[in-house]
Amino acid sequence: MKVEDKVLDLAKRRGFVWGPSPNIYTGGLSGFYDWGPLGKLLKNKVENVIRKGFSAFEFWEVECPTIMPKEVWQASGHLTNFVDYITKCKKCNSSYRVDHLIDGLEEKDPEKIKKIITHKNIKCPSCKGELGNVVPTNLMMKTVVGLDQEVFLRPETATTTYLLFPELYRFFRTKIPFGVFQIGKAYRNEISPRQGVFRTREFTQAEAQLFIMKEQETQFSQFKEHSQKLLPLLKYGSEKIEKVKLGETIKKNFMKKEAYSFMVYVAYQLVENMGFDKSKIRIRQHNPAELAFYADDAWDIEVLTERYGWFEICGIHDRTDYDLKQHATFSKTRMDVQNQSPNILEIAFGLERTTYVLLENSLIEDKERDWIHFQQGMAPIDVAIFPLMSKDGLDKLAKEIFNDLNKEFVCVYDDSGSIGRRYRRMDEVGTSFCITIDHDSLTSKDITIREISSMKQIRIKIDDLSETIRDLLNKKVKFEEL
Ligand SMILES: [Zn+2]
Repeated sequence: MKVEDKVLDLAKRRGFVWGPSPNIYTGGLSGFYDWGPLGKLLKNKVENVIRKGFSAFEFWEVECPTIMPKEVWQASGHLTNFVDYITKCKKCNSSYRVDHLIDGLEEKDPEKIKKIITHKNIKCPSCKGELGNVVPTNLMMKTVVGLDQEVFLRPETATTTYLLFPELYRFFRTKIPFGVFQIGKAYRNEISPRQGVFRTREFTQAEAQLFIMKEQETQFSQFKEHSQKLLPLLKYGSEKIEKVKLGETIKKNFMKKEAYSFMVYVAYQLVENMGFDKSKIRIRQHNPAELAFYADDAWDIEVLTERYGWFEICGIHDRTDYDLKQHATFSKTRMDVQNQSPNILEIAFGLERTTYVLLENSLIEDKERDWIHFQQGMAPIDVAIFPLMSKDGLDKLAKEIFNDLNKEFVCVYDDSGSIGRRYRRMDEVGTSFCITIDHDSLTSKDITIREISSMKQIRIKIDDLSETIRDLLNKKVKFEEL
């Protein structure tokens, strides 16, 4: 089996991701997925790395509604610009995104796109029928509030955070720059979602904004603090990834502003903290010519995947003062600092894709076993507890240990099958530590603890167990040092 199929199989079989959802009704709604118990644990861990990471860099978390009135999306530009161009087959009625049919399509005029389709003689991929007119289709989901107020589910968390600028500016006692972030659901009505968990219609975003004045962007203290950090950068038009020190990103013409480089560094640091294989991470610049008219720069953090090659899990955008100006105009509310609109530098993570890619990225096949090598503390299950046999009081002691550890860590208790099989079950989902209670445990009050990557086993006193596991998971101590 190919690695990507193995991950898919594992995800279904072991309760990471199920779907499309709801499975029992007509096989589910395309683009919607359920996160099973292990997947949800893993997603929470990814989310917590992001939450802790942003907080460590002094970003403050907020939470906003997922539904907003039409005016917001008029101001943000989503109502007019957030569209896919769709064509339908005249024969079989299948719908297609035209950018999926025409490589490198940049044309935005529906009539001209239709001409390209005719000229290139592009037919329906499934029945070879003739394709109809090209229609721009908005990707926002619409619903109704009250009797008849037309509202939209947010297509991103970011806009809802921008709207808080007046309140936030007061909260931060009119000191700028300041940073905030939001983790929450967003919705996009993809016309034909095809990439499974990689592209869904409902998803979780973690987006951080730095609100900053234009003149503050070129001199930024945290840029200097972290100047020695190496970033794997792929500049637009370049073929090779260069390791560049953060402090040299401006001098060497990779980026233009210290504050923006710092945001790229923050995002990269978070990805590193999740435990991705460093050789499979790159930071890629967008084509400057294809940026939105107001945007000044954009880089993506991409991870190498089996199924889709380099795949974006995070974007870092310099949005200039566009958003606050728009919302000030449309809402007739002041969103300025001494008559000047602050700029917004933004980091945007997609949590589901990040979690799934981490799962795939961490899967290891070797001669003996398939196992998942999560970084310490990232595995869905921290500790598995096995009584060697369910008799002679071994099970009783194992239950006591389980009940104790389960208060602090994510634990499972397993007493079925041989110890070897129980190890395999845990290896398969990346469980960091397995503890076995044997007859000696009853008298000498110690147990065997096994670490997943080395498969090494050592004896530890039951009294020291909680503290040792805590130190191991927090990377205060390495297993080989015990
Ligand atoms: Zn067709």
